[in-house]
Amino acid sequence: MKKNTLILIFAAVVLAFVSVSCKKDAPVAKPQITLTEVGHENSLKAMCGDDMHLEADILAEGLISRIDVEIHQEGGSFEIEKTYTDGKYIGVKNVEFHEHIDIPADAPLGEYHLHFTVADREGQTSQVEAHIQVIEFDEHEHHEE
Ligand SMILES: [Zn+2]
Ligand SMILES: [Zn+2]
Repeated sequence: MKKNTLILIFAAVVLAFVSVSCKKDAPVAKPQITLTEVGHENSLKAMCGDDMHLEADILAEGLISRIDVEIHQEGGSFEIEKTYTDGKYIGVKNVEFHEHIDIPADAPLGEYHLHFTVADREGQTSQVEAHIQVIEFDEHEHHEE
């Protein structure tokens, strides 16, 4: 075998090794969630028969693939669920979530627990929680924003 051929083979082996090791991607950070406002002015209150203002800052290096909001009664079985799998939040890295979650008029009053879950396209999920109070509807307390 000629010396040049040997050098070529050596170069090819080195290249193959380099490209294999480059496939090891650096791990992508899990989604980061900060609940900024739960209820109007972060009152942590929602009125039955109204909607609850909900705001969160999301940073997902792996891009948002799904957002789940689950509000369940403490010591009861009443549940409110909302899932976002398309629309303005999906495929985005950094976004301010702002939605109004409908609280049905037949929701029992009292303590509830909120779970806010974000999944990214890498299959990673993060969750934050809050405790809220579902109170009687009062039209003076109703806010549009
Ligand atoms: Zn709002
Ligand atoms: Zn819970």
